[in-house]
Amino acid sequence: MPELPEVETVRTGLEKSINSKTISKIILNRKKIRFDIPLEILKAEKSKIISIERRSKYLLVNLSNAHTIIIHLGMSGKVLVHKTKLKQYDKHDHFAIIFTDNSEMVFNDARRFGVVDYTKTANLAEHKLLKDLGPEPLTDKFNDKYFIKQFMAKTKPIKIAIMDAKNVVGVGNIYASESLYRAGINPAQACGKVSEEKLSLLVKSIKQVLKEAIKSGGSTLRDYVRSDGDLGYFQHNFKVYGRDKDSCFKCKAEIKKIVQQGRSTYYCPRCQK
Ligand SMILES: [Zn+2]
Repeated sequence: MPELPEVETVRTGLEKSINSKTISKIILNRKKIRFDIPLEILKAEKSKIISIERRSKYLLVNLSNAHTIIIHLGMSGKVLVHKTKLKQYDKHDHFAIIFTDNSEMVFNDARRFGVVDYTKTANLAEHKLLKDLGPEPLTDKFNDKYFIKQFMAKTKPIKIAIMDAKNVVGVGNIYASESLYRAGINPAQACGKVSEEKLSLLVKSIKQVLKEAIKSGGSTLRDYVRSDGDLGYFQHNFKVYGRDKDSCFKCKAEIKKIVQQGRSTYYCPRCQK
């Protein structure tokens, strides 16, 4: 499943490949993915793409008609940009935009957990998918003071809490394990039991882990024309994720795997207390 760094890499790719293009035609091959794609989206034809932003794992394609196309990749979604428009669509090509230069952006999603929506740009903050989201981890809003206040009294395990988008967005399963390892915090520890010092170390670690992943994605993205959501190449940098039964890079103890809310967590029992 694409996490924040992968989505940011797709955003960068789209910025380089479709920004400032004018929409010639919108293609709806399927009316419903996870939700209905609103027919109003057809009104985006003739408008120009003015910027591509990201909020959490939502791509926001802002248009000159004061509307925004919202795209979420779900589990398996991919955004592909073709230099010339397709002659034939794949059966999972649910939504496409053809530009006036005859290039085409296609949203392909085999498992159909993805989202394509359309709204007034001015109403984005109140949009049902965006309104309850916590701060972006790479902004100043996500800082020690906020984090400590948010977590002090909580009894939930710290890993579950950092993956809750109401507290902070974009810390998915992989990066949760990785940042807790860096901060030396046991993932099962209740938030309220973690020292302020370690919580502030965790804020730093989350930012670092995500920045490094974005950097590695950006430098690996060779072909901007193919903004592929399914990028598996961050994997070789993991310190604990997927390394159960291997030895810890710091202390040589065996990395353990536990399951929390149905998701695998990896940690070093010696380094993470
Ligand atoms: Zn260790």
